[in-house]
Amino acid sequence: MNTWIEVPNNTDFSIYNLPFGIFSKKGISKRVGVAIGNKVIDLLACNKLNIFADLDIHNSFFENTFLNDFINLGKKKTNKVREILQKELIDENSKLKMHNDLIFSMFEVEMHMPVNVGDYTDFYSSMEHASNIGSMFRDPDNPLLPNWKHIPVGYHGRASSIIVSGVDINRPKGQIKPVDSENPIFSSSKRIDFELEMGYIIGKNSKLGSSISTKDAEDYIFGKVLFNDWSARDIQKWEYVPLGPFLGKSFASSISPWVVTIEALKPFKVQGPVQHPEVLDYLKFDGFKNYDINLSVSILPGGSEIETVICKSNFKYMYWNMSQQIAHHTVNGCNLNTGDMMASGTISGKSKDSYGSMLELSWGGKKDIILDGGYSRTFVEDFDTILMRGYCSKNDIRVGFGEVKTKLLPSI
Ligand code: MN
Repeated sequence: MNTWIEVPNNTDFSIYNLPFGIFSKKGISKRVGVAIGNKVIDLLACNKLNIFADLDIHNSFFENTFLNDFINLGKKKTNKVREILQKELIDENSKLKMHNDLIFSMFEVEMHMPVNVGDYTDFYSSMEHASNIGSMFRDPDNPLLPNWKHIPVGYHGRASSIIVSGVDINRPKGQIKPVDSENPIFSSSKRIDFELEMGYIIGKNSKLGSSISTKDAEDYIFGKVLFNDWSARDIQKWEYVPLGPFLGKSFASSISPWVVTIEALKPFKVQGPVQHPEVLDYLKFDGFKNYDINLSVSILPGGSEIETVICKSNFKYMYWNMSQQIAHHTVNGCNLNTGDMMASGTISGKSKDSYGSMLELSWGGKKDIILDGGYSRTFVEDFDTILMRGYCSKNDIRVGFGEVKTKLLPSI
């Protein structure tokens, strides 16, 4: 497929992608946009031009501060919007081409939270990550807890502090227990970490009391984003027994602004790891449910202009896939809502340069991570910027996520 829009080589936002987001611009209120190359297409303006006339969608679905209402139109309509846009972008005589005043440069728009997140659940689905943490804190010979290969382990996180790329955060404060002290102190966290994850956004409501099968689960996924699940390891260590993560996690999680649809990711489906022992029936599935998505994390130290890639991983390594996570999440009758955010858990691979957190890369703070420009780190320092990127690529087709970028500022 070729488009008449000038698209940079190797762009994440190719004609095959067309992700949705919420943008605004001087004189233009928040609305739904689609990314192509370095450009953003104004879907409200497209709708006013009757480009989507066949779909009979009211302007209010596009002139909106979040994608939730648009997503609630259902996949039949939202997929059609993508298909129509694709045709318009290929056709040299299209209406869209005649009206290129509704296409803006990405550098002149502001991106916002794409969805109003109602609930957020974080899984723990990478075996390599769970094994690394288990080796460090429990038993290197027996790193996984007995439930781990039977249950896609997860916890309910905090939705209010999910932020979009570009929003700075402050170093959190809390209770920390120094190793040489019997009692905790109140202090700024000394061990701020990122977690390289991918999030997915629920695309339709399910009913309270009903369950979703692995077969139907992907119908409930609208799309995916990059997800940095910020963590304060020292706060987490003191608080997590017996009910799990709380304030060490809830201060912030950052996401990329463009939601890549599950349909755009279809060509990149791959087989996942073999699951042994055999899982219970409700967790069994047919076909490929993993996705080949290359992921990386970079640090840009404060005062430096040189970014260093410190982790290269891949979403295909996940032991538990999204369909199993959804089947498990709803097996007790818990309902899902449009706009809910599910995150994968830290995505680590087997090799040491594929670990998805500083905790693993510095092996509990014992090993320096060497950065270009003469810097080194064990955890994230004030004024560091963490950047995560991700893309799929196959037969010259590239579908990517852009980036999620967050700067850590000192405590206030
Ligand atoms: Mn996490």
